[in-house]
Amino acid sequence: MKVLKFGGTSVGTVASLRNLKAIVDSLGEPAVVVVSALGGLTDKLIATAKDASSGNESYKESMTAMAQRHFDIINEMVPDAAKEGVNAQVSELLEQLSAIYTGLFLIRDLPEKSLSQIVSFGERMSSIIVANILNNATHLDSLTFMKTEKWFNRDIASRELTDQLIKQAIKLPLVKTIVTGGFISKDKDSDEITNLGRGGSDYTAALIAASLDADLLEIWTDVDGFMTSDPRIIKSASVIDRMTFIESMELCSYGAKVIYPPTIYPVFHKNIPIKILNTHNPSAPGTLITDHAQSLPSCVRGVSSVKNTAMVMVSGSLASNIAQINSRSYNAMARNGISIFLVAQPENGVAFSIALPQSDAMRAAEILEDEFKPELNSGEVTRIEVEDNLAVLAVVRESIKEIKGLGARLVNTLQRDSISVRAISDGASETTIALVVPGQDADHALALVHDACYL
Ligand code: ADP
Ligand code: ASP
Ligand code: MG
Repeated sequence: MKVLKFGGTSVGTVASLRNLKAIVDSLGEPAVVVVSALGGLTDKLIATAKDASSGNESYKESMTAMAQRHFDIINEMVPDAAKEGVNAQVSELLEQLSAIYTGLFLIRDLPEKSLSQIVSFGERMSSIIVANILNNATHLDSLTFMKTEKWFNRDIASRELTDQLIKQAIKLPLVKTIVTGGFISKDKDSDEITNLGRGGSDYTAALIAASLDADLLEIWTDVDGFMTSDPRIIKSASVIDRMTFIESMELCSYGAKVIYPPTIYPVFHKNIPIKILNTHNPSAPGTLITDHAQSLPSCVRGVSSVKNTAMVMVSGSLASNIAQINSRSYNAMARNGISIFLVAQPENGVAFSIALPQSDAMRAAEILEDEFKPELNSGEVTRIEVEDNLAVLAVVRESIKEIKGLGARLVNTLQRDSISVRAISDGASETTIALVVPGQDADHALALVHDACYL
């Protein structure tokens, strides 16, 4: 049994929905299909909420346009016998959405909870529509099984509960294809609508695949596979035919948007292969992600980058005590739910740096000030400071340490083009060399690193 996930770009237009239908209807057996909202709709839902809550009447026009987009698709794609029912279900959701916007317009405010409710309508509507386009398919409301819990200030999947509820909701062997919305969820305690984070439909699909022990998770998107780098930045990027779970996990956590980062772990854990495929070009072979990739490429598997990165630097003699400063900083970040990209020590050992998302940097600095309070008092730590507007590049391949001198070669390549490498993590990971560069040089640096690895 397969789980197939179709992203916004695969459900955005009548043409892409025709491809989706051809792909699923020709499988020859029922499957689980997870869909995103119509392409661009989640952004539109958010923008409209901002308009309404700031008193901008144009939210009404956006609401009408969003409604019309859904009705047009229903009209073109849903068989006549089901049209009335689907129109009624979608109209009911649109009325609820419209009432929320009217409320925001009146109170001139946008509470976080309202925003979570608003963005859920995209997947709630698209999943009903897709379920009625496919042959022998039925709709399943993902709000009934996808549960989250609070982790620091985030909503994260409540794995055990969700696993049980998926098993209860979807009985095997499937007699019909099941279509459900990705991304959306409910808090397990408050029952309020939440979500798994932007791009989270991939994760919904992975959690379902893992619970049901699927044979394969297919992620259908708008590119021919996982590429050697972001094709929007690197025009010469090419499709990778095979890679390992770990390589894909590393590339995605360092910015490869093609899969939402938490997606890989649940299927990796169950050893369920992932295929990345193109809805607009279904005959392309795509990328197969498994626990081994047959052969290692001569240079690296892929390179990716994350902008909006910051570094928190801890200066002072303590920085030379690498083991202690490493473990205390890592633990302090982990205790506070902050994920970091890398830690780096310059050779002279007078400063120690952590690179992390810019949005977490101020809090990370406060946490480290607290952690190193005794050393700040004794003078072993002299300063803790934040540097913003950086980017981190990641160069990924299993056994990357076997490529001798790669880190130094990449630093030279960047410095030759006057890009200052602010930090490097080389040797700490079996799979990744990460480099921190100024944010304004991010795309140029990615191109240089990609060329150095593939030309
Ligand atoms: P979907 O709506 O299908 O979830 P996304 O926009 O989330 O699609 O992800 C697909 C996009 O990811 C591609 O269109 C591509 O521009 C971008 N991307 C970034 N890095 C990579 C990469 N290494 N390989 C392939 N695509 C990538
Ligand atoms: N619709 C959501 C988003 O745009 C989730 C997803 O597409 O995966 O972020
Ligand atoms: Mg996506």
